[in-house]
Amino acid sequence: MNTELIQEAKRLQEKMEWLTAAVSTDQSRSQASSIQVKLDVFGGICSSFETLVRDERTRLETFRADVEAREVAVRNRETAVENSRALLMDRQIAVNAARDAHVIIGTALMERESELEAGEQVLNRGLESLETREAEVQTAQSILQKERRDLEVERNCIQNAKVNLEDDMKSLTLTTDCTLSELRKAWERDVRGHYEKNESLSRELESAKGRVSGLLSELEAAKGEAIAANKREDEAKSTLEASRRENKSQLENTKKPKDMEAKHAELEAERAMLVSERKSLIEKAALLTSERNGLDSRVSDLESQAKVLDSAREKFENEASRQERAAAEKDQQIGEFQKQVDSLTAQVTELEQAKIQLKSQMDKTKEPVEETMTNPRKRKSDESPTVLFSSWRTAVEDLGDFLHMCKPEMDTDGSCTEEDALKAIGKIAVRESSRDNLLDFFTSSPCDEWCCLDEVAQEGLDAEAAEPCSRHEGGPCLQIRNCNEGQIGGLRYGAFFCINRS
Ligand SMILES: [Zn+2]
Ligand SMILES: [Zn+2]
Repeated sequence: MNTELIQEAKRLQEKMEWLTAAVSTDQSRSQASSIQVKLDVFGGICSSFETLVRDERTRLETFRADVEAREVAVRNRETAVENSRALLMDRQIAVNAARDAHVIIGTALMERESELEAGEQVLNRGLESLETREAEVQTAQSILQKERRDLEVERNCIQNAKVNLEDDMKSLTLTTDCTLSELRKAWERDVRGHYEKNESLSRELESAKGRVSGLLSELEAAKGEAIAANKREDEAKSTLEASRRENKSQLENTKKPKDMEAKHAELEAERAMLVSERKSLIEKAALLTSERNGLDSRVSDLESQAKVLDSAREKFENEASRQERAAAEKDQQIGEFQKQVDSLTAQVTELEQAKIQLKSQMDKTKEPVEETMTNPRKRKSDESPTVLFSSWRTAVEDLGDFLHMCKPEMDTDGSCTEEDALKAIGKIAVRESSRDNLLDFFTSSPCDEWCCLDEVAQEGLDAEAAEPCSRHEGGPCLQIRNCNEGQIGGLRYGAFFCINRS
């Protein structure tokens, strides 16, 4: 724009310069027309210049307006940009807050997840422990079932054992006592043997000890002797030394050679004697030392022997105490067995009594009532025993039962043997009335009264208590005394003492 303007201005200047030159040179020609032309040219220059300026001005004006408008637009854009920036800032803040919140939520979620995982692990562990517990419970159940089965088996065994024991007890007779006492005697013999062995060992040990102490005193004496010998040797040495010194001083002191020579010989002899004595003493000392060594070894030998004896004695003592304990245990067992045997015996006795009593009651009910009302004993004694035999078997059984019931015990005066008692009782027991009378006797006869067996069998409790009975005057009279101490059906029911009086 400006360069255009400047070129236009330069062109106008060139025209003006031409015009000036033309004015100054053109005088002769028609002045008026030439001036007019020049004025016209100038006028044209001026107008074109004005147009040029005016165009330029309008162009500048439009340019300025354009610039202003663009400025406004720029300002508007700026404000818009500001607004949008503020908006962005707000959004940024909101986004930050949202992000923070998100982060917090994420952390919380993570924590929750780890918690859930921990919970799951705990659950798994719980499940595992439950499974193991279940297995344990199952094994415990099976163990319990097995134990119960075992217990049942054991119970059966015990019951069988009980039954067996009862059978054994039933089969146990008086021989048991004999066997037990024999066993006991054997044990006692065994224990006594061990005691005797122990005592002999103790005695041996005592004598060994005595020998050891004797040897020790001997050794002490030998030691004293050795010490004395040593002392003697020392003394001899010192004497020798003294005599040597004396000899020397004498040699120095005496001036007479002859006398000195004699003295010298004498001293030499003495010295030789002392040397030989010393030698013998040394030998004796060596002998004593060897003797002492021998004694020492002997003493240690004896001590070890004593130790061996001590240990043997201890062993025997232990064995003896063990035997004693075993014997005590056996005694206890015997006592228990005895108790069981006693109780079983009592049961057997009671059963036998009950059986006999039942039998007699049944027999009585069989008899006619009116006859029983009169005098049963008289009736029975009048009858022949064979009439009452319902059958051989029952008669024998009754007799056997009665004989089993009877427990005769021989008086200590030895006048009556078991054979005598069996003969006498067997003879009378065949009659049922005699048996009844004897049963009455067992039940209620006082236990401090001797009665004749035949009298009792015949008369029952009416039998007279006389020492030589009128029935057996001069002859043997087997008398009995009740042991049942006046009780009806006691432990000693059926037991009675037997004695033969003549
Ligand atoms: Zn029988
Ligand atoms: Zn008599």
